[in-house]
Amino acid sequence: MPKVTIIVPVYNEADNIIPLYAEIKKNCLADFEILWIDDGSTDTTYSEIQLLADSDSRVSCLSLSRNFGHQNAIMAGLDHATGEYTIIMDGDLQHPPSCIPLFLQKIEEGYDIVAAQRKKTQSIPFFKKIFSTLFYKFINFISDIPIEENVSDFRAFNNKVLTAVRQFEERDLFLRGLFSWVGFKKTTIQFEAPSRRFGKSKYSYAQMLRLALKGTTSFSFKPLRISLLIGAIVSGFAFLLLIISLITYFRGQTVPGWTSIMTVVTFMGGTQLLVIGLMGEYIAGLFRESKKRPLYIVNEKININ
Ligand code: UDP
Ligand code: MG
Repeated sequence: MPKVTIIVPVYNEADNIIPLYAEIKKNCLADFEILWIDDGSTDTTYSEIQLLADSDSRVSCLSLSRNFGHQNAIMAGLDHATGEYTIIMDGDLQHPPSCIPLFLQKIEEGYDIVAAQRKKTQSIPFFKKIFSTLFYKFINFISDIPIEENVSDFRAFNNKVLTAVRQFEERDLFLRGLFSWVGFKKTTIQFEAPSRRFGKSKYSYAQMLRLALKGTTSFSFKPLRISLLIGAIVSGFAFLLLIISLITYFRGQTVPGWTSIMTVVTFMGGTQLLVIGLMGEYIAGLFRESKKRPLYIVNEKININ
C-alpha cells in the first residue's frame, strides 16, 4: 500500500490533537504522514503537535501566520501533501479515522475520489441542520455541478486528483464544489458523525453563510440570471401599473392610493437592492480574484522540506 497523507486543518483544537493522532495510528495500517495545518491557533495546538512530532517523524505540521479559514488551510495541506493517496479530515474527531480502511480499500479498488457522507448527527444544532439542508437544496437547484448533501470535505483521493485540485487558483475556495467539478471516478461511503468531544465548533452562522454564498456564486451564474428575471418581471408589473394609473388619472378617478404607492415603492426598492447586492457579490469575487493574493502564508514548518 502506497503512502497516505492525512491532512488535518486545526484551529484551537489543543485537546483533540493527541486523541485524533491515537485514532489515526490505530486505524491507518498503511505508511502514513499526518499533515496538521495549524490555522493560526491561539491556544496550545501548535505545541501539542510539536510534542507529537518530536516522538514520531510521521507527524508534520504547517503553521499559518494567522487564521486563514478552514478551506484555505486545507488548500495549504494539499499543496504540501507528499503521499500517493490523500485524506482530508477535520481535527475534532467528528470525522472518524475508523473510515480510513474503507477509504483506502475503495481507492485500491480503482476509485479516484471517495467522499464520506454523514449518516446522521444527533448533536447538530437545530438551526445548523435546517440551514445546511436548505443550502444544499438551493445549491443543487442553481448549480451546474451536483453537490451531495451531508458531504463535507471528509474524503480520500489519489494523486491524479491531487494534481488536478492543486491547479485551482481561485480565492473563493469551495472545495467540495471543486472536487465535484474535476470529474474522475467517484464513490461515496457512509459514516456516523459523533459529537464533538472537546472544544466547540469554529463555524459561526456568519461563516456558514459566507461559505454558502461562496458555494453559490463561485459555481453558477444562474443567480445573476435569476436576478435578471426577477428584475424583468417586476419591471413588467411596474409598467402595467403605470398604464393603469395613467388611465385612472385621465378618467378623473383620483385615488387616495397612498398605501398602494408605498407598497410598490418598497417592493421595487427591495427587489432592486436584492439584485444589486447579488451582482455586488460577483463583482466582489472578481475584485478578490484580480488581486491574486496568496491563499495562506506559512509561518513555521515541522518535518516538511
Ligand atoms: N478550522 C480551521 N480554521 C477555521 C475554522 C475551522 O482550520 O477557521 C478547522 C477546525 O479546527 C476543525 C475543522 O476545521 O478541525 C472543522 O471545523 P468545525 O469542527 O469548527 O466545523 P463544524 O464541524 O462545526 O462544521
Ligand atoms: Mg466539527
